[in-house]
Amino acid sequence: MGGGGRGPARMVTRMSEHGDVFDYVVVGAGTAGCVLASRLSEDRDVRVALIEAGPMDRHPFIHIPAAVGAAISRPKLNWRFMTVPQPHLSGRSIPIPRGHVVGGSGSINGMVYFRGHPTDFDDWAAAGNPGWSYREVLPYFLRSENNESYPDSVYHGHSGLMNVMHIRGRIP
Ligand SMILES: Cc1cc2nc3c(=O)[nH]c(=O)nc-3n(C[C@H](O)[C@H](O)[C@H](O)COP(=O)(O)OP(=O)(O)OC[C@H]3O[C@@H](n4cnc5c(N)ncnc54)[C@H](O)[C@@H]3O)c2cc1C
Repeated sequence: MGGGGRGPARMVTRMSEHGDVFDYVVVGAGTAGCVLASRLSEDRDVRVALIEAGPMDRHPFIHIPAAVGAAISRPKLNWRFMTVPQPHLSGRSIPIPRGHVVGGSGSINGMVYFRGHPTDFDDWAAAGNPGWSYREVLPYFLRSENNESYPDSVYHGHSGLMNVMHIRGRIP
């Protein structure tokens, strides 16, 4: 992929009131980085710095459900990566949106909940990555999820921090 044409990353940091010495520095306040920093900082004796290249997540399009199309069109919120010209697409370059904001791509995504197919995980494990089979990762999916729509399912969690549900208003 080609770069988004940006200069050096503008650092938005919120330093701890204890100074600038940290036990952990998490670079990238995206989906994974925010969860990691949040979990690490549950231990009150641990100091965590979370560093993000993009701005804070204040833009209204981030907070309007399904405003993904509008959010990715904001240059400040998107790294604006492009593929190299694709020979099988008549030489066109294709945009690859990636969040450049606190929350990362999770701040500009479609809010659709889905998991990888079980065979994807099993293939990763078979390729020499112990612990990545579907059976082994499923407990972590269950732990992260609070699913309102499948209260009895053993494949869905019910006490995690991430709420999941079918859309309320269905248009026939
Ligand atoms: C338009 C769009 C729609 C999507 N829709 C869905 C959906 O409906 N459902 C779904 O499950 N998934 C969806 N996804 C995918 C999902 O959002 C991503 O898989 C997920 O957010 C990736 O998380 P991550 O932590 O790996 O990376 P990101 O969330 O992208 O986080 C990376 C962070 O690191 C920062 N960063 C990078 N380099 C530096 C640096 N040098 N210094 C400081 N900070 C840096 C970035 O700015 C960014 O904030 C969508 C993604 C996009 C872009």
